[in-house]
Amino acid sequence: MFVPRSGLETLKPYSVEEIQWPIRLDANENPNDMPQAIKTKILEKLAELPFNRYPEISAQSLKTTIAAGFGLTAANVLIGNGSSEILEALCYAFGGAGRSIVYPSPSFSMYGIYAKLADSQPVPVALNADYTLDADKLLAAAKEAAASVILLCNPNNPTGVVLPPAQIEYIVANTKSLVVVDEAYHEFYGKSSVNLLGKYPNLAIARTFSKAYGLAAARVGYLLAGEDITQTIGKVLLPYSVNALTLATAEIVYNLRQEFAASLAANSRERERMTAALGAIAGVTVYPSQTNFLLVKSDTISAMVARLSTRGIGIRDFSTAPGLTNCIRIGIGTPDENKAVLEAVTA
Ligand code: PMP
Repeated sequence: MFVPRSGLETLKPYSVEEIQWPIRLDANENPNDMPQAIKTKILEKLAELPFNRYPEISAQSLKTTIAAGFGLTAANVLIGNGSSEILEALCYAFGGAGRSIVYPSPSFSMYGIYAKLADSQPVPVALNADYTLDADKLLAAAKEAAASVILLCNPNNPTGVVLPPAQIEYIVANTKSLVVVDEAYHEFYGKSSVNLLGKYPNLAIARTFSKAYGLAAARVGYLLAGEDITQTIGKVLLPYSVNALTLATAEIVYNLRQEFAASLAANSRERERMTAALGAIAGVTVYPSQTNFLLVKSDTISAMVARLSTRGIGIRDFSTAPGLTNCIRIGIGTPDENKAVLEAVTA
């Protein structure tokens, strides 16, 4: 019969407000476009590509380049159309009907959706009031639900708060679930759990080019894990899902990743300045962030949202979301953009 499969009635197509804000601080992007010198290199490479041919089906060249950066082999790497594709595929491969997927809440809103799409039971575990994680509570929930997957986001979106690497190791060491650490924002933090990959076969790390490397337009992310994990997820990934233009672009950007040091340093300077300035406003709480965004809470949040919007500043309003009452997420922009934010909220 021509009806949607069961479970879809609880989901809505993903949508964000597609307003072309003059100042866009709503999607955790890099506020600066790719440096022109790198863009030129990319465009020269793209001009040489045969557009009539399918991309390498296994993305071997980019996998090998990334693997070398970690002392791994290409078999330990999967490439996806954004890390989104990899996280979804992972839920299909290791979730499924009758299984549970555990993740802290609030965290990246797509985790629960990927779990549902995979026909698995989403099991959100509430973070502490300061958005730190109670590892024993998470492990107990995973045990009770016999979870096949635990998704951790480090640093966490949308709170910006980090999980200390020792806490992640404690979780991985004390569960039989597959633990996936989504390190979409790790470049802003500097710490990673990649060094644990050889020690724990139940660990996988997801990364993206969309944030620190400013490549959100190209849609590319990757997973690092043991070969048995990458082989299994490879079974559910679509062939040719990452196009040849993106593969070539990502390879150039990965090889030039040191060039992003200045942009990371600028983000960190601006983040500290914004944390202090916003935190000095009466009634405002700014959570400690190691990312390129800040979670800001205020009793007068709707007035703040209105002032930002009047000045053409797009932010992400979470003020009615569970666990995020009166909170908004503001991306760290350029110094001028951040100045505009401060002027708007203090007006
Ligand atoms: N994980 C987290 C925590 C994110 O915030 C995002 C993007 N907002 C993603 C994964 C997906 O990123 P992409 O698909 O662009 O790689």
